[in-house]
Amino acid sequence: MALAPRVLDCCPVRVPDRQAMRKFQRRLLAWYATHGRDLPWRRTRDPYRVLVSEIMLQQTQVDRVVPKYHEFLERYPTLECLARARVDEVRRVWYPLGYNIRPVRLRQIARETIARYGGRLPDSAETLRRLPGIGRYTAGAVLSFAYGRDTAVLDTNVRRVLGRVFLGPRGAARVRGEKWFWDLAESLVPPRRGYDFNQALMDFGATWCTPRKPRCRPCPMRDFCGSYPLDRSGRKARRAGA
Ligand code: SF4
Repeated sequence: MALAPRVLDCCPVRVPDRQAMRKFQRRLLAWYATHGRDLPWRRTRDPYRVLVSEIMLQQTQVDRVVPKYHEFLERYPTLECLARARVDEVRRVWYPLGYNIRPVRLRQIARETIARYGGRLPDSAETLRRLPGIGRYTAGAVLSFAYGRDTAVLDTNVRRVLGRVFLGPRGAARVRGEKWFWDLAESLVPPRRGYDFNQALMDFGATWCTPRKPRCRPCPMRDFCGSYPLDRSGRKARRAGA
């Protein structure tokens, strides 16, 4: 694993400890078995449905997405249905989720997938990222959650958790760009457990190690987390931020 030299070359941050990385994997999966959320998009591996959920979840809270996810898929149950729909109608169905370029791009993705890939979303990161609005995170999510690949996902929640655990409360601020975090996230995905691990990491960031109220005292990571105890004072938690 080439994580350590890259870190030292780019900036003076702590090199993640291998033992801590293994503990983090094991404990996160155990935490997920008890605390993981039951979300509708976790009951499917259909790439189209996974993609719809991921696009909806961009900048939008889970509780707002759930009813719209059901409504949207009732109206457009397949890529073909979405590709045939009028763009103004798709926008109307999307309302009131906001960030309205998303339904337009989703429909474009459906049309391009049918025109270029025989109606099946591509299963390679490189090809997925050629589609409109699909960046590294969304490509990783589709590969992990629909195709079962052991690829990493990195969103703001995941970045915050990894920064707190492996770099301490202010360590993430010393890392330039996202490369270090992507390398770490890739290194952490356990073989053949990518789906559960990534879902767990996102749930842990969204519900437990949150920006303002991390639950440090009962946290399963507390004996090796570089930020423990972050919940001792509101000021410390705010400084570590997202
Ligand atoms: S100990 Fe606190 S800061 Fe560290 S992972 Fe747990 S909740 Fe997050």
